[in-house]
Amino acid sequence: MQQPSNDALTRMTSLAGKVAIVTGSTSGIGLGIARALAAQGMDIMLNGFGDLEDIERTRRDVEVICPNVQATCSEAVRAHGIRAAYSRADMSKPAEVTSLVAETIDKFGRVDVLVNNAGVQHVEAIESFPPEKWDQIISINLTSAFHAIRAAVPGMKQRRWGRIINVASAHALVASPYKSAYVAAKHGILGLTKTVALETAEHGITCNAICPGYVLTPLVEKQIPETARARGLTEEQVIRDVLLHAQPTRRFVTVEEIGMTASFLCSAGAASITGIALPVDGGWTAQ
Ligand code: NAD
Repeated sequence: MQQPSNDALTRMTSLAGKVAIVTGSTSGIGLGIARALAAQGMDIMLNGFGDLEDIERTRRDVEVICPNVQATCSEAVRAHGIRAAYSRADMSKPAEVTSLVAETIDKFGRVDVLVNNAGVQHVEAIESFPPEKWDQIISINLTSAFHAIRAAVPGMKQRRWGRIINVASAHALVASPYKSAYVAAKHGILGLTKTVALETAEHGITCNAICPGYVLTPLVEKQIPETARARGLTEEQVIRDVLLHAQPTRRFVTVEEIGMTASFLCSAGAASITGIALPVDGGWTAQ
């Protein structure tokens, strides 16, 4: 049987020139993933909220991340580096989710990698959990992924290549009290991940979920006082006895670790990995 040549192996492993959307990438895990994919030579569509000047600084910063695959990049990528654009599309609004995909195709010609990452949290007991928070969390953390995947899959099928990564959570596998909407949305996104994986398996597309444990981002910083109130603890107790207590490594997962996991799931080595929930949780869900 013929062995792949070194040239073929290099081409197969190069992600340079691919186009990625990362929803909710103005901070935290999404930004970590956007930076990691930019380092692989991909053009990036950033998305999320925040101060517009800060976001423009972030966009420029992502654009100058030197692709570490320079040797295997196309002429254009070698000459001009990668491109990063930004869209303020609101992931709670289906029409804006769909137009984020359209805007990316307008700007960069296609979508090869879709990372559904935007997410929000609210921590409160079920009997007082505000119904509007439930709706908001389900729409941003779950429904937006459905609309984005639905819009991105036809082009991926046409080109017979695509990577869909849903940023779920350890809370897609296990529950914690006071997080009813979040845990429901994250369990739901695993079902969506598996279904899309099956529907796209013969088209060169993979669909996987990354399930991070606790990462110290603004989302977690905000829930520390909320959890302290809900459980009658101090904030220090919440960090030590609730958050890090769940993780046998007793340290927060980093955004860089999640970024590198996403890069791996885009790589040729992960071409047969589809429909999985990949915990990156310091051993939390091994218990
Ligand atoms: P973060 O608050 O740092 O970032 C959230 C991002 O989503 C921001 O860019 C924000 O602007 C964006 N966003 C919020 N609402 C939006 C909307 N309506 N439309 C578009 N963008 C919106 O939070 P993070 O911790 O980086 O969380 C990112 C993802 O990782 C979420 O899906 C979260 O559930 C998941 N996650 C986080 C942790 C953790 O410990 N931080 C653990 C597991 C999973």
